[in-house]
Amino acid sequence: MTPRELIVCRDVSLGYEGQCVLSHLDLTIREGDYLCVVGDNGSGKSTLIRGLLGLLPPLSGEICRSKELMEGAVGYLPQQTRAQRDFPATVYEVVLSGCLNGRKNRFFYTAAQKSAAMMNLGKLGVLELKDQCYRDLSGGQQQRVLLARALCAASRLLILDEPITGLDPAAAQDLYKTLRYLNEKEGMAIVMVTHDLKTALGSARTVLHIGRSGVFCGTTAEYLSSPQGRRFQEAQS
Ligand code: ADP
Repeated sequence: MTPRELIVCRDVSLGYEGQCVLSHLDLTIREGDYLCVVGDNGSGKSTLIRGLLGLLPPLSGEICRSKELMEGAVGYLPQQTRAQRDFPATVYEVVLSGCLNGRKNRFFYTAAQKSAAMMNLGKLGVLELKDQCYRDLSGGQQQRVLLARALCAASRLLILDEPITGLDPAAAQDLYKTLRYLNEKEGMAIVMVTHDLKTALGSARTVLHIGRSGVFCGTTAEYLSSPQGRRFQEAQS
């Protein structure tokens, strides 16, 4: 791997119980990338995310991760379930729990982890909510809190699975703006699964489209003029 490479997938096939969902995928994620993953329901987007996170071993091929990612420099924002929305903890506790990875065998969070949690609460504009119960927040506020939590783990890469599901348009725009800031000003690489192609493409530099006829991976401009990109845009409009 070269120094700027975070994840390299070489001829990777992913699936369940020997059944392939995604096959022969070549993909490289580098520092500062902003990759949007799109495709129909059931095409394998979440399966890819599980593979990138190391939760699902490849059926064949190899997924290499940089040393930093192996040590946990990746933050993950999963799709929220109803049970998670009702989580009975304070906002501060939810964000601080993002430091669990770095806690190793210690029983307590360190002062540095606590200050990282406070800093990320501030960065996401939810510091004044820190003592409120997470389940009492609006959907947009909850997503900001979860992003602050993911940032406690991430120093290089953020992986987000459908982050704007359930958000109103203003909250969704707000989230995109924050992601753009993290990417452009802080150099955070972003991999985001989304159905909201039109808006997401305003930020993403690369698109991975998983379709029945195969996988397309290229710049946003290349995608928009590709047959897959044109078909997908028509279906969405
Ligand atoms: P997407 O995220 O694009 O909607 P998924 O990656 O969730 O698609 O699913 C891709 C395919 O893999 C689907 O056919 C789905 O039924 C199947 N699948 C997903 N998770 C599992 C699992 N845990 N066991 C078996 N099959 C699964």
